[in-house]
Amino acid sequence: MKKQKSKFVAILVFFCCTFFVLTIGCSKNDKAGTDSEILQVVVTLSFFEDMVSQVGGEHIQVTALIPVGVEPEDYEPVPADIRAINDAAVFIYNGHNMERWLPSIISDFASRENFYALAEQEEIETIPLPEGPFAGDPDPHVWTDVKNAIIYVQKIYSILADASPENRDYFKARTQKYVRELDDLNSWIKEQVEKIPHSKRVLITSELCFQYFARTYGFFHDAIWTINAPEEGTPAQIIRIIDVLRKVNAPSVFVENQVDHRPMERVSRETGIPIGGILYSDSLSQPGEGGETYIKMMRSNVEQMVEALTGKESD
Ligand SMILES: [Zn+2]
Repeated sequence: MKKQKSKFVAILVFFCCTFFVLTIGCSKNDKAGTDSEILQVVVTLSFFEDMVSQVGGEHIQVTALIPVGVEPEDYEPVPADIRAINDAAVFIYNGHNMERWLPSIISDFASRENFYALAEQEEIETIPLPEGPFAGDPDPHVWTDVKNAIIYVQKIYSILADASPENRDYFKARTQKYVRELDDLNSWIKEQVEKIPHSKRVLITSELCFQYFARTYGFFHDAIWTINAPEEGTPAQIIRIIDVLRKVNAPSVFVENQVDHRPMERVSRETGIPIGGILYSDSLSQPGEGGETYIKMMRSNVEQMVEALTGKESD
């Protein structure tokens, strides 16, 4: 039933897209120069909205297409998204197939010059997805390593500065300040992780979305499924992770805010290993929950890991 609905939505979006591009696609070239004061930026992921705001401040207006708490991989676009992308001076997305729904809605755009994929930059050393339907493809969750988030932010600076050169100095000063905060975050994470004995640096989540975090900060990482897709928490996936948990010393397991929590609840029941907290991977938290910015997401994650894996609170 869900599949049929998805198919219907995909067809509807396709027709709306075709109609939309045919009717107003020709006005596309006018817009970059029309409003030199406020640059209209559209992004896909919720924390890109935060990153772009940190750099752009009062000279930009930014909108995220994917609502907080929704899996970006399986997002179902609506016709208003096509209009938003078309109207934007700049469109920023992650890339490496994070937004699997995107090619179908942007394939008809005559020009994609103002489209930027933050993860698809040479400086970022990608890790392949180990198994599942996209095995061997680059894992798109590169921002979970703060060094990569800094590469994202520097790219955002160059995108905004090129689109609005009169504000270059303003963007530069804000970028420098934000990058200092991200450097501090990176140092803080390393200090916090030192509190966890090496044998307990075990990060088991629903989706395998912390490979970059695990590589940089020294965790063993595994998950029920490799990447968010229609098959999440199948019996075979659950049996596999329970088998892994029998071999590693995991004081706790974790769930992410935007996924179905039931598969991990089942793993927790069957192994007796408690769920140590909710981590923010692909989306900001709802207001008031403590992960409302990229920096807060990462801090909240690390605080929960330290507490759940050592039994002590971080400071
Ligand atoms: Zn994901």
